[in-house]
Order: sequence, then structure tokens, then C-alpha cells
Amino acid sequence: MERIGILKERADRRLVVLSPAGAERIRGKANVIVQRDAGRAAGFTNEAYVAAGAQVVDREEEVINGANILASYDHHYLGGPLNSDKTFIGSFNFLGAPSKLDLYQRQGISVYSLDLMPRTTLAQAMDVLSSVGSISGYQAVLLAAERSLATVPMITSAGGTLRPANFLIMGAGVAGLQAIATARRLGAVVKAYDVRTASKEEVESLGAEFIEVEGAVNDRSAGGYAVEQPEAFLARVRERIANEAAMADVIITTARIPGKKAPVLITEDMLMGMKPGAVIVDLAASSGGNCTLTQPDRTVMYNEVTILGPTSIECSCAHSTSFLLSNNYSAFIEHYLVRREHILEDEILRSTLVVQNGELVNERISTLTTATL
Ligand code: NAD
Repeated sequence: MERIGILKERADRRLVVLSPAGAERIRGKANVIVQRDAGRAAGFTNEAYVAAGAQVVDREEEVINGANILASYDHHYLGGPLNSDKTFIGSFNFLGAPSKLDLYQRQGISVYSLDLMPRTTLAQAMDVLSSVGSISGYQAVLLAAERSLATVPMITSAGGTLRPANFLIMGAGVAGLQAIATARRLGAVVKAYDVRTASKEEVESLGAEFIEVEGAVNDRSAGGYAVEQPEAFLARVRERIANEAAMADVIITTARIPGKKAPVLITEDMLMGMKPGAVIVDLAASSGGNCTLTQPDRTVMYNEVTILGPTSIECSCAHSTSFLLSNNYSAFIEHYLVRREHILEDEILRSTLVVQNGELVNERISTLTTATL
């Protein structure tokens, strides 16, 4: 039987890609080996893995040597070169950091990166970006609420009435929609904008107002993702958004284009017009940021506006994120075990396979690396 090895992430990640329930799900199809304390920071005990039928081992090398399929969330150096029959499954973000590829190629193994999952109905259960996006959108609102000088809901008390906060959400994909839903639950007045006009209905169904800017370039072949917009259009968006930004207590930006620098939506001019005490949470910080002054994982103060650029906000809700990731990974592992002899005919495997026995074989990534050379 196949042996799946679950590695402990870097300490600051706190996530695990297979929960005890995930191990239970795979039991019978593969043996699961878990590095001791791999789930601890996410609230899963070693005992729970043992009860789910997994073997818990002390050292990372025991997992690497004992398993032929390894799974991790993010970049995780395995040592190497390794036996070429090993397969490594992760969410490595090669689109955002293609320079990491070399390290994996040198290991001589095969690598699947689940953040390249196609956006099809069949693949939905394996979509790690949706899992991470949902938690990030939720967490961004909590972070903003905590850093804001004002309360979010309307509060009436003996001292008077506090008005509800105004939230502006830029980008209404998975993270943006979850941010809208969370802000609405907290009682905020929410407006949102996205270049994909298809998101208007979703925004409105969550009780937020959709800001319309005509003339965005939409491309159906982008697989549900947005495409880069001409600078003249982005300038029109900024002009339209400037008034909204001036009224906002909180701005959460989530606008991204896979493999490209994030579009600039909040400029210094706009920051100058914002209220003192306002907070911006920029979820596009790792790909350049939607706000010109964002710095990854730093707090930037501009006048009295706080700009936060968290790059791994999903790790702060480690139990819930790991629960979702575990469902994604176990669905993928089940699919892989059944379909791995048919990679070329299988859209899920073909799209997520990046390196095969040390060779770069992924079209999306090789187009990107050629373009960046
Ligand atoms: P994403 O993280 O790549 O981008 C976030 C949002 O930013 C997107 O909605 C995008 O349109 C928006 N954006 C990009 N440039 C912008 C700009 N200049 N101004 C304003 N907004 C801009 O995208 P995502 O959240 O992962 O998902 C995008 C779409 O894919 C959503 O409609 C989502 O529902 C869909 N989706 C489908 C599946 C599936 O069918 N299996 C799975 C996940 C997501």
C-alpha cells in the first residue's frame, strides 16, 4: 500500500494539511505517517492521529524516508536529491515565486502544487485557494476591527449613538466575498468593487452595495480569474474609488491576478484624503499590494491611516484553515491514487503537476518562467 507522509510545517505556519479526520478518510487506501506534533499548533493531538490509524514518528527524516508520497502546505525542503519515485504534494505558489522551482527540480522528485487547481466543478473540493481565501477574508475583517479606533456596529448607549462603520472591499472573489459577509455580520455598512461584473450579484446578495465602473476587460479564457487591466482603466477606477475611500473607516483589498503583480487601487493621493484612524488591510501584500504603501507583514502608518499587509493571515485561524485544507488534500490524494496512471488525460493532475522526476512539465509555470527570463 502507498505510504503518505505528513510533514510538520515551519513553526510560524501552524497549519497541517491532514487532520485526524483526513487520516481516517484515507485509511484503507494508503498508510499515513505523521511527524510528531505536526498538528499540534492547529489543535490536533498525536493521540488523535494514532486513533485515526496513522503512525506517528519522531523525526522529519523518518517521514521522508518512510513515505513515498509526502504532503505539506508550503515550501518545505526535503533534502535531496531524493529517490525519483517520491511525490511531493503542496501549495507552493510557484506562480508567485517561480525561483523556488529550482530547489524542487534538484530534488529529482515529482511535485504537485494544489494552488494550480483548475476551477471546475470536479476540482472544487480540492481548491486550496478557496479555503485559504475564505479564512483570509474573515480574518482581515477581524484584524481591521481590532485595529480600528471606531466600533463596527451601530451602538446606542447612555452616552449617545455610535454610527456603523463604513467598509470598502476591493476585489470580490472568494476572500472579498467572505470579508463582505463578515463585515455585514458585524453590522458594518459595506460597499465593494470588482472588475468582474459577474460578482455584482454575489456582492448584492450579501447585503453590500456594488460600485460600478464601466469598461473592464473580461476574459472568459482566464478560468474565472480576472485579467490585467489597462492603466487608463485602473486610473478611472481610482478616480471613482477616491470618494469612497475618503468615507471609509476600513478598506480591505483582495485584488489579484495569478502570476502577475497586483493592481494598484489605493494611491498615496487617496490615502491623503482618508479619515484619521482608518485602517487598510491589504491581502494582496505578497504580490506587490493593492495599496502603494503596503509592506508585506509590516504596519505602515500614513498620516493617521494604518496600512497592514499580512501575507499568511490564514495561519492565525490554524484549526479552521487546517480543517478545510485537510478536506482539500484528502480529496486530492484519493483522486491521485485512482488516476495517477492517466495524468495526461486528467485535467486535475495535469494542471497541478509541476515537476516530474526533476523535469518542469507544467505549461502555466513554464510560460511564466520563460516570460520572466
Ligand atoms: P483572486 O484571488 O485571483 O482575485 C481576487 C479578486 O480580485 C477577484 O474577484 C478578481 O476579479 C479581483 N480583481 C482583480 N483585479 C482587480 C482590479 N483591478 N480591481 C478590482 N478587482 C480586481 O480570485 P479568487 O477569489 O480566487 O476567485 C476568482 C473567481 O473564481 C471567483 O468568481 C470565484 O467564485 C471563482 N472560483 C471558482 C471555483 C470553481 O469553480 N471551482 C473555485 C474558486 C473560485
